[in-house]
Amino acid sequence: MTIRDAVRLLDSRGAPARRKSSIYRTAEVADFSFSSLRLIPVRRCDRPDCGAEFVVTHPQKRFCSSRCQRIAERRRYRHRHTAEARCRRCGATFKRTTTTERLQVYCTTKCQYEARAAEYPKRADILAGMARARAARRENA
Ligand SMILES: [Zn+2]
Ligand SMILES: [Zn+2]
Repeated sequence: MTIRDAVRLLDSRGAPARRKSSIYRTAEVADFSFSSLRLIPVRRCDRPDCGAEFVVTHPQKRFCSSRCQRIAERRRYRHRHTAEARCRRCGATFKRTTTTERLQVYCTTKCQYEARAAEYPKRADILAGMARARAARRENA
């Protein structure tokens, strides 16, 4: 809803031109179709990277659009499902999602590669696999 539409709506409902409420930040809006200056409740969108002004049609309304509301919901969800963890290789703290059963254990893919490069030559199952591959190559030769 544009500010002009809201002014029209308030006018058609016979709403008072000046509504005073501490929760509303009021803004002066010139509405040329009525050739008048009115005070209507206006708020800035709670999504920091949006910040668009919108007309407060409901006291709890915090976002300018359903799109901004959805984005904020997703961010809150992600934030709730994020935990701090310590890298198994370098000990650095990093944030990881808790929505998966296979939790991230290394801070970066670099740490992951380095840890695997150090760990794999010591793992019996991997050494056995390498031995099998060598034997297969000898047979084919
Ligand atoms: Zn917005
Ligand atoms: Zn690390």
